[in-house]
Amino acid sequence: MLEKILQDFSRITNWDEWDDFEQKYFNFPEKEINAIDEIIDIEISLDGEISKNVYVNYDVSGELMDLYEMLRWENFKKLEPETHEENQQIPEFYGKICHHCNIYAEKYKKDFCPIYSKKLRIFPLNNW
Ligand SMILES: [Zn+2]
Repeated sequence: MLEKILQDFSRITNWDEWDDFEQKYFNFPEKEINAIDEIIDIEISLDGEISKNVYVNYDVSGELMDLYEMLRWENFKKLEPETHEENQQIPEFYGKICHHCNIYAEKYKKDFCPIYSKKLRIFPLNNW
């Protein structure tokens, strides 16, 4: 399955193809609205950096969400290289996120989540 996903991903050359790809493999069902507790902000400390939880609106495993976000990032880089390059010049626009624990930190120097040692992904911060 993963091999097929990556194979199809490598063939994407425009946004329509990305949309089809997304629909085919990453059409996650939305969560039922009953988990109100999950919406409340939780702050935890990761090696001295304050991190916040992320509310995920979809019923999806951390593994699959991580794969999706990684491919989404790679796809943007591929289809919009100039914008991607420009964005890279402004590192304060980005934090790091763990899709397994659903937490993010605005400033965190390490590349792996200290909880399960999963790779952290770059995450655009919306508070700028
Ligand atoms: Zn984690």
